[in-house]
Amino acid sequence: MQLENRVAIITGAARGIGEAIAKVFAQSGSLVVVSDLEIDECRQVVKAIEDAGGKGLAIRCDVRSRQEIENMVRQAVDTFGKLDILVNNAGILGRRPLLKLSEEDWDLTLGVNLKGQFLCAQAAAREMVPNKWGRIINIGSISMGGCGMAYPHIAHYTASKAGVIGLTSALALELTPHGVNVTAICPGVIDTAMAAEAKAPEQIDRVLARVPAGRFGQPEEVARVAAFLASEEASYISGNAIIVDGGWLVT
Ligand code: NDP
Repeated sequence: MQLENRVAIITGAARGIGEAIAKVFAQSGSLVVVSDLEIDECRQVVKAIEDAGGKGLAIRCDVRSRQEIENMVRQAVDTFGKLDILVNNAGILGRRPLLKLSEEDWDLTLGVNLKGQFLCAQAAAREMVPNKWGRIINIGSISMGGCGMAYPHIAHYTASKAGVIGLTSALALELTPHGVNVTAICPGVIDTAMAAEAKAPEQIDRVLARVPAGRFGQPEEVARVAAFLASEEASYISGNAIIVDGGWLVT
């Protein structure tokens, strides 16, 4: 039970990687706030957590809204007494060729994937710094540019995930002295609705041929890395990213 009595907020946790993180954290003893855009879907995840003997709280939160984020953090602290861990997981993809990429597409993607992480991290850090302990884990992507892997028609997404890496180092510099470690996880292709959106069926074999593991990752394989980074075992890790990609980047 490496996260026993820790209180964690997971954004975008109604499905996919976020749902897996919420469930693995709960199995590890954490009290989990499951937040996403649709409260009913959050409640279903909390029910599954509670049916398995864990403890959770469903909160609707659009990570583009500072007010909703502040409300989420307040509810988490009012219910569980503190906030120890934030996983900035909410994200959107929306493939668009560059010449058809609108300013609205750009602003929406950067708003959710990057500004959302900043707003959540700031609100969470205000709770963590006085407690002199915290973990902020930002979900990036190997689609972040500059690492030998490129996917077409996601300039906006790639820019947002590059920003996540910069944000992670900048937050770590300011927060680690206060006992708040900040890290990122950069997944490769993980078997979720977003991955299905990212690749046409005829591309699957081509993508798989690039992955030495010979398969896509499962959300739980990201979630277990998040649980490690959130734990006391990762006490001296801050400011960098762990790649979880089945070896894609070595090809
Ligand atoms: P999913 O699309 O399956 O889940 C993302 C969740 O985020 C959805 O429940 C979605 O809600 C929610 N969400 C979207 N916008 C907001 C918002 N404004 N506020 C709060 N929640 C929101 O994606 P994954 O689980 O695959 O992805 C999770 C993270 O992992 C993302 O940051 C993604 O970029 C990253 N990632 C995923 C990879 C993959 O292969 N799957 C690879 C690399 C990185 P709704 O359904 O209502 O839109």
